[in-house]
Amino acid sequence: MEEHLEKLRASGRKVTPRRKAIIQLFLQEQGDLSPQDVQEALSGTTGQFGLPGIYRNLEILTTCGILFRVVTYGGERRYALCKAGHGEGHHHHIVCIACRKVGKVSDCLYKDGMMVEGFRLVSHIVQLNGLCESCAREKNDLSALQELRQQG
Ligand SMILES: [Zn+2]
Ligand SMILES: [Zn+2]
Ligand SMILES: [Zn+2]
Repeated sequence: MEEHLEKLRASGRKVTPRRKAIIQLFLQEQGDLSPQDVQEALSGTTGQFGLPGIYRNLEILTTCGILFRVVTYGGERRYALCKAGHGEGHHHHIVCIACRKVGKVSDCLYKDGMMVEGFRLVSHIVQLNGLCESCAREKNDLSALQELRQQG
């Protein structure tokens, strides 16, 4: 929690009970959440949470690098907690397509300003999607089971 609050302070934002409650929720969840999920989870705990306020706080926490916007196929707005420490450099995120668990990827080929295929790179948006270790294992177990069934 403390390293997340550090990011908040470093960007000149106030640590408020609501922001703390939102970070706490993401720490518990491991995966990504929509603003509606956040509202539902926090309703009752810190008084009345209006959706516009939640949107605003989620965007502020994203600007500080505490959260990041997950790229979803349907374009739905979802956020997840960034695992990088305060002051840690350039990185991307990897999301498990099965359980929505999130990881951090530090290797990146691209540097904004470099030439790529004759283009001067201005920015790049990269999200890796995969299966986490436990989901991959589960999937393997399942396909092994299906194979057995087909053989039987
Ligand atoms: Zn991150
Ligand atoms: Zn998973
Ligand atoms: Zn990159």
